[in-house]
Amino acid sequence: MSVLKYPAPGLRKKSVPVEKIGEDVFKLVESMVETMIVEDGIGLAANQVGSEYQIFVMNTTRGDEAPQPLVFINPVVLQQEGEIIDEEGCLSFPDLYLKIPRPESVQVHAKSLYNEDFVLELTGLLARAVMHEMDHLNGVLIIDHASAVEKEKIEKYLEESKKGMEVNRSI
Ligand SMILES: [Zn+2]
Repeated sequence: MSVLKYPAPGLRKKSVPVEKIGEDVFKLVESMVETMIVEDGIGLAANQVGSEYQIFVMNTTRGDEAPQPLVFINPVVLQQEGEIIDEEGCLSFPDLYLKIPRPESVQVHAKSLYNEDFVLELTGLLARAVMHEMDHLNGVLIIDHASAVEKEKIEKYLEESKKGMEVNRSI
């Protein structure tokens, strides 16, 4: 599967809940996990690969560790606490990193691939990843969170990517 890159219209679509976890969902999740690992992403939302479902996957391990993918179906954020401003990237915006405030910890409810409800508390980078993926499912992207200063950086980025040029990563 290839990941949609901005400005693909699919990235702005709001996802719809999964009614029944059937064969199509299994296949979709399998491909999403594979794509996330190949692309070395921390998370991937279904609308980034052209699906309309409220699903995202996350990889909680890095580097040489065996991947431990988590699957969130119909996720809902129950609670969020604190705030951390940090750099954030997105597979749909290669080489763009923006400083974005996110909660320090989140509590999220979702269904597993086996139709079991679960609640997870995540902190730091993983809390950031959950909010990032929830945004995707609502058609919201990292550029929507940018500060006035970063708006300029984004304009330059979009201009450069239109030209198909290599974008400078340094700030
Ligand atoms: Zn993203």
